[in-house]
Amino acid sequence: MSGLAGRTIGEIQSLVASGKASAVEVCRAHLERARALEPRLKAFRALLEAEALGEAARVDRERAAGRPPGALAGVPIAVKDVLCVRGAPATCGSRILEHHVPIEDATCVARLRRAGAVILGKTNMDEFAMGSSTENSAFEKTANPWALDRVPGGSSGGSAAAVAARAVPAALGTDTGGSIRQPAAFCGIPGMKPTYGRVSRYGLVAFASSLDQAGPFGLTVEDVARVLQVIAGHDPLDSTSAPEGVPDYLAALRGGASGLRLGVPAEYFAAGMDKEIDASVRSALRIAERLGARLEEISLPHTGYAIPAYYIIATAEASSNLARYDGVRYGHRARGAQQLVPLYTRTRTEGFGAEVKRRIMLGTYVLSSGYYDAYYLKGQKVRTLIRRDFERAFEKVDVILTPTSPTPAFRFGEKADDPLAMYLSDIYTVTLNLAGLPGISIPCGLTRDRLPIGLQIVGRRFDEETVLRLAAALEAELKFHQHSPPLAGQP
Ligand code: GLN
Repeated sequence: MSGLAGRTIGEIQSLVASGKASAVEVCRAHLERARALEPRLKAFRALLEAEALGEAARVDRERAAGRPPGALAGVPIAVKDVLCVRGAPATCGSRILEHHVPIEDATCVARLRRAGAVILGKTNMDEFAMGSSTENSAFEKTANPWALDRVPGGSSGGSAAAVAARAVPAALGTDTGGSIRQPAAFCGIPGMKPTYGRVSRYGLVAFASSLDQAGPFGLTVEDVARVLQVIAGHDPLDSTSAPEGVPDYLAALRGGASGLRLGVPAEYFAAGMDKEIDASVRSALRIAERLGARLEEISLPHTGYAIPAYYIIATAEASSNLARYDGVRYGHRARGAQQLVPLYTRTRTEGFGAEVKRRIMLGTYVLSSGYYDAYYLKGQKVRTLIRRDFERAFEKVDVILTPTSPTPAFRFGEKADDPLAMYLSDIYTVTLNLAGLPGISIPCGLTRDRLPIGLQIVGRRFDEETVLRLAAALEAELKFHQHSPPLAGQP
């Protein structure tokens, strides 16, 4: 059967469940497409061909044996290389873990498998998820399927590019300060960061533990909801995963926009934002209004402190989390060191890239005695203020709408030498991680250069339902799926 790649999860699931296509045929079609695109796209760190075909054959055998097909039966899914997939390297985009092969699946990966999904491959990313362009990968530079000379965003750039180019219908990413939503915006697909604690972090290699969260990319909001449904929920293996019950996200999609109160924060439409993005997001706001939602201007007064607070807290946590890569316990070990301290130093000097080293140094500095109160403690206080800004706003509104990123996808190298410029691309996304809130980016238009523009919808803690509900309503009006990237049309 031809034409199996490029379909949505719902289509694939029903083809496989009804026997109109086998999971193996679906898997082959996506592997072929991924392989054909890879020389230009470079989205994958590894394609797990044999394993995926074996998994797909198992799905087919179960169906033949009359067992009920899972919610993701035969659906190929790509997984960011920071999440553990049993038996496959989890490099995290780093030389230091180049040959690290986990012996277990991350909980979210295990849940995908249990639902019948087929793990097709591991996707490229910024080293240890530090970055906004995937240029910090120690291995290759992933291209944006809309313009091959531009970045796909990051740090989950490989996952976003793979979905946008139709190599897979869905993928998992992780988001510490925007790493799902920003690449989703740059690649013109929906991508969601759930509430902190909604999805287990077990098997997610830690960058900043109080901010990290895994979540889905899909071609449609419905597909994002389908994957979230499977990966969400409490996990005894992650003490920060939340006991909250998981509602029916597909049912939530039918709610429509009517009656919703939408907050529009003045601080997110400030100077410095690209004009085309401003216009496109505002036109989406008018559509929401036409659908019966009420817009309300709100203020999130501490927004301006979010980037500094994030880059203090995230680097502090990273410096502590990354201490484990010492050449003794995990991954790369420098050759020839005769003593312990030189072994540590050489291993880390060889194994980490420039951005990771910068963050370890920043984080070590803000935690060191004498500076702790001035930086880390201040950062934590600002974090509380930012969370309260949102709490106050959510007394008046149900969801908040903002642009996802101040610019569309930029060119390779454009920000690579200027860490501060790179950090500022997270200006609209880091606040949600600091406050632990759920958010989705959906494509809302194209620039004149045909680059996608993302709209961010933010919800109350654990209210992914309302976020998805509005996202689905807007998606139906925006009809962005009529556009697809030039690469999606090519074999
Ligand atoms: N770009 C941000 C950073 O570099 C966010 C990364 C992320 O969400 N993993 O820290």
